[in-house]
Amino acid sequence: MGGRSVVPLLYAGRAGAARMARSRAITATRPHAAAAIRIPERVRAQLRLVFPTASPRLFVHEGARQALERKLRGAFPGPVILSITDNRHSIITHRIWRTTLHARVHHMFLDAPASILDALVRYVTRGDRDASAILGDYIDANGFRLARRKRNAPIVTKGKHHDLLMLFDGLNARYFDGGVNALITWGKRPTTKSPCRKTIKLGSYSAVDRLIRVHPSLDRNWVPRYFVAYIVYHEMLHHVIPGSRGLGRVNFHPPEFKEREPHFRHFDRAIEWEKRHVARLLRS
Ligand SMILES: [Zn+2]
Repeated sequence: MGGRSVVPLLYAGRAGAARMARSRAITATRPHAAAAIRIPERVRAQLRLVFPTASPRLFVHEGARQALERKLRGAFPGPVILSITDNRHSIITHRIWRTTLHARVHHMFLDAPASILDALVRYVTRGDRDASAILGDYIDANGFRLARRKRNAPIVTKGKHHDLLMLFDGLNARYFDGGVNALITWGKRPTTKSPCRKTIKLGSYSAVDRLIRVHPSLDRNWVPRYFVAYIVYHEMLHHVIPGSRGLGRVNFHPPEFKEREPHFRHFDRAIEWEKRHVARLLRS
């Protein structure tokens, strides 16, 4: 969301970094959940996919594994344990447990180019959003198709007041020719309520997960459907328009994004509504 918004929204990458930092402080009691799970297909399509139960045995090049582990160690303050998997369901997962970073990555990364490995290191150690986009492209290019999301992070599209899948399908047909192949879910409600929240991330898009998350505070009867649709539309644009890289920085809302965003037919209304309800959203 960044650039134009009156709500100072956090980038997904920074939110991830904050989550990691927090989890590091409470590692003794709460293990960090798997952080990245690859889901290229929509839920309904996934149900038809059948995967063989036996996977071929994996022979890992131990030298390559150690080299990648060393790279991670160079970027992380604590010990690092890297495992290589042949798991179709989670291409990259990581968690911090008692100051040790445990990373599990698919063997496709063992012979990846240096730029991809750098992105992997940035993603795993810092939750870097630009790196997430690079990794998403790489995984796409390697043609991997995964069946479903981990059971501990279910996809929830039906809210109390708004149905995200219905909105998504409508937007996909109207603005994208049905071409947006991403998942969508309501985000998890925070377990503790911060008394004076200054920012709220109304929507996010993770290229690694191919997942759009919508903040649960939008699932209210006083939040109009066109506003939720606008947030979904914005995140769908992130799926189809990659950030433009240059001058060492990624612009997540490049000119093409800015040009297409107002095509949403309730754009002005949505921006107006957001201005008038920022305070209430922050309180909710
Ligand atoms: Zn955005």
